[in-house]
This record gives sequence, structure tokens and C-alpha cells, in this order.
Amino acid sequence: MDLKKFWSPFCGAVSITFDDGTENQLEKAIPPMDRLGIKGTFYIHPQGDDWQERLAPWKDVAKNGHEIGNHSLSHTCSSNFLMNFGGLEEKSLFEIEQDILIAQKRLDQIAPHQHDWTFGYPCSNTFVGRGIQRQSYVPIIAKHFLAGRSSGEYGFANHPGVVDLSCVWGISVERMSGFEMIGFAEELTHRGLWLILIFHEIDGERLTNGSYDFKMLLHYLHRKRDLIWTAPVVEVAKKICSSGLKQINGC
Ligand SMILES: [Zn+2]
Repeated sequence: MDLKKFWSPFCGAVSITFDDGTENQLEKAIPPMDRLGIKGTFYIHPQGDDWQERLAPWKDVAKNGHEIGNHSLSHTCSSNFLMNFGGLEEKSLFEIEQDILIAQKRLDQIAPHQHDWTFGYPCSNTFVGRGIQRQSYVPIIAKHFLAGRSSGEYGFANHPGVVDLSCVWGISVERMSGFEMIGFAEELTHRGLWLILIFHEIDGERLTNGSYDFKMLLHYLHRKRDLIWTAPVVEVAKKICSSGLKQINGC
């Protein structure tokens, strides 16, 4: 694959993603992104009886051009996170699929204009069951979504010619400096790759980044907008689908 031709006029792509749909993101992530016209992907889990009220502000975020993504309903991760049973090790593929589809019905009301949807694996976990009964739930995501974001190794990104869209790699960037995130973006996009950054909060308490560092990254991406394509996951996935990868990814 000719990467230069594929990305032209850019040399590679960056997607900024945030998980869990927090108040912190509404207050501290979205305003600086909007000021620079940078659009991201926000993976939300519409859990609880108050989901409509709680997620109401996200309707405007979606209208404003950011992508809303499915982060499941119950946000079930490995039992190790719970330090108890009841996590993915104890779930079936059927249960996970139902959970994700209920979430999707709710999210369709938050962003009714979105036709193509992507999924953010909670905790980047992609399995159900344990031991010899452990199975991947990536095929379920491939069935219902244009793309699914999990995580990969530090320092690696997605090659548009071979990536499995149902399980693309993100890099968790919590506590990283602006210089380090810019280094990733500079180096990996110049290799012709698609870099997906996973954020949770800005100046927050949990898995957080400093606003100084986040804004440094945003300003860098804004300055480099003619060379680096910064776009929501769904937009880059659509571009990959419109290329020769259609048959591989079934999109
Ligand atoms: Zn999450």
C-alpha cells in the first residue's frame, strides 16, 4: 500500500478519544478543542435510570461535530478491576451483545444524525469467559460497528493497509506530558500511521492529563493541520473502508 497516496494531502492521522462521558470532559476537554476546531470521539456508557438527564449535554457535543461512540451499557471489564467475580470472565457473548445493543438504542437518541458508529472497549478488554472457555467478543463488534477501539503497545499505531477495524489500537496517554504526546504524533504520523490517543480526564482525579499538556498537543495539531489529519475515529475508519480494505474489514 502506498501510504503517501492513501493519506494525501496528509502524512498520517490522529484521533483524540475520551472514555466514560464525564462532566470533566464537558468542562475541560471540549471547550479548548472547540476553540481550535478539533473534533474528537467520546465513548459513553448510558447507564442508570437518569441517563437521559445526565447525558443531555452530549446532544450539543454531537451536534457540534464530535463523534459519540458506544462504550457499552454496564461498562463491564475484567473481574480483576472489581477485585471480585462478576466481570467479563463471568459473562457470555450473548450477555455482552445485549448490553451493547441496549446502550446503542439509548445513544441513538443522543446523536440521531450519526449513521456510522464505533465502539470503545471498556478497559480495552475484548474477551468474555476464562481459561479454555475464554472467547473474543471482537466478532460481535465487527457485526454491529464500523470500528472498535482497544489498545496496543506503547509506541505503536495503526497501519491503514492491514489494521483490523473491529479492534484498532489506541494508546493510553494519562499523565503524559505534552512533549511526549507530540512526539508520538510527530513520529507515528510521519511513518504513515493512524495514532489513536485514549484520554479520560483533564486536570481531573482519575487517569488524568494536565490541561497545559492537553492544550500543548491541541495547538501542535492545529499548527500541523495541513500535514496531520486530526479526525474522529469514525471518519478515519470510513476513509479506510472506502479504500481497498473493504473486503478485509467487511465494511
Ligand atoms: Zn471506560
